[in-house]
Amino acid sequence: MNVDTNASKLALSDLKGASGELNGTLSAAEFIRIPTEITLVKDVHYRLNYQLVEDNFEIQLECVGRFKAQCQRCLEKFTFFEKAEVGDSIPVDQQKERVDEEILFNENGEIDLVKTLEAEFLLCLPMVPKHDVDDCGFNMTEPVDSELEKKKTPFSILKDLL
Ligand SMILES: [Zn+2]
Repeated sequence: MNVDTNASKLALSDLKGASGELNGTLSAAEFIRIPTEITLVKDVHYRLNYQLVEDNFEIQLECVGRFKAQCQRCLEKFTFFEKAEVGDSIPVDQQKERVDEEILFNENGEIDLVKTLEAEFLLCLPMVPKHDVDDCGFNMTEPVDSELEKKKTPFSILKDLL
């Protein structure tokens, strides 16, 4: 298909036929609203499926972002992935007023891929980036000890009673 799949926007007029799939790459530098303590480290590959149903394009858009941040518990840098997935229906006739809430941002017959996926990332990115508990170096030392301490207490009390 003759579509510039590296563009951040996709014209609805590029969606040919009754259905299809498009793949493309969005430059990480275009995702400017990602919080400063988190870095999008790789360009984002997306997949877009569309199907023409009556007067609407049914569109599924998905991608996985690779991020880097400093763990707020052990202060080490770590990498994590977030999946963004949106489904929406866009009237082929762009003059038509939309009644439902807009999930896929579109304007002047173009879908704004970056703006749409960025909004999804912002919803799922952690407020305070942290390792999974099992992966966090900080967890190896202190919390284990205090857990042990907690467990010890009721037993020692019991022992004293016996
Ligand atoms: Zn950590």
